[in-house]
Amino acid sequence: MQIFTPVWKDPKKREKALAWVEKQSGDSEKLLEAAMHSPMQDVGMAAAEKLTDQKLLYKLITAVGLDLYDWKGRNGIQRRNLALQKITDQTILRELAKQGYFCDNSRCAPDRLTDPGTLTEMLTDENFFTAEKQNTYAKTGLLAYALKTVLGTLGLNGALAVAAKLPYRDIAGMLVDRMTADFGMDAAEIAADPAFQPAVRIKAAVLLPDNSALYALARADEREIPLDFRCEAAKQITDQNLLAALIEEEMKRLENIPFTAVTEDAQKLLRAALKNVRDPQIRKRFCSLEGKDSELHTWETVSEREEFGWQGYQRIKNVYWTVRCVNCGIENEKHYFIPVSRSPEEEG
Ligand SMILES: [Zn+2]
Repeated sequence: MQIFTPVWKDPKKREKALAWVEKQSGDSEKLLEAAMHSPMQDVGMAAAEKLTDQKLLYKLITAVGLDLYDWKGRNGIQRRNLALQKITDQTILRELAKQGYFCDNSRCAPDRLTDPGTLTEMLTDENFFTAEKQNTYAKTGLLAYALKTVLGTLGLNGALAVAAKLPYRDIAGMLVDRMTADFGMDAAEIAADPAFQPAVRIKAAVLLPDNSALYALARADEREIPLDFRCEAAKQITDQNLLAALIEEEMKRLENIPFTAVTEDAQKLLRAALKNVRDPQIRKRFCSLEGKDSELHTWETVSEREEFGWQGYQRIKNVYWTVRCVNCGIENEKHYFIPVSRSPEEEG
């Protein structure tokens, strides 16, 4: 029995296969088959390039998947990325964005995604992205793009609507810049308005000449500003008097809760407040909170020495140095080594 083999499957018929691809129409299912399964990369790429039907391109993209290291390997990824660049249908672009195709490592430009509804949804709905694997850096880039585009088209009302829901810290500054610089809104009012998201309010408070808005945000009720955001506000405070006041309040609060409840989480705001405190006496009180490796110590290097040794057959140089906390005086020795060809004695 003779089984018919498509020309794109036979590595001996490369030229014929390429000519075959040229003759296909952009909505051919057979062309999709070739783009998905041809063992010849140039034939597969030519087939992906020739495809124009948006649903078929979507099938090719999702058949390869998000994972850069999946079984289809590099060849599949290249065909997928080519297909991604050919999608212009807004519904399909939305679906691909949701699934994280613009938040993976391929860095595909998403600028064909222009539907204001989708872009707004992306910015305001924390559950918009459904993919588990996402590159945070690429996702932030996509969100920044979405914000720029949305602000340009929706104006002040759009900005207000987004500010009421925007959960992302990384791009909140951009939104606040637009609201204050382009729409003339008052930063102090934004910072004080519970209608806006914590990330937005904190960015607005940072713009103010004094830190009192940040202090108010750091001390806000948990239901108004969740702990992580209050810590972020506390970390931005530079005014030493406000920091001292915040620390005193937190110390009092911790004294009044049961010892077993004084967890690292309960101390979180205190630790955040301490970040910018310059007074060594105040800092010293907190050095012991996390032990020797605490980030709360302020280390300075007091001595350093080198020692040559072996690791297996490899000559190495050990570098030891001692650091001392300027506040509490505790010392900590650190060590690293690098492979070397010969010790100085051997080099004579
Ligand atoms: Zn210390």
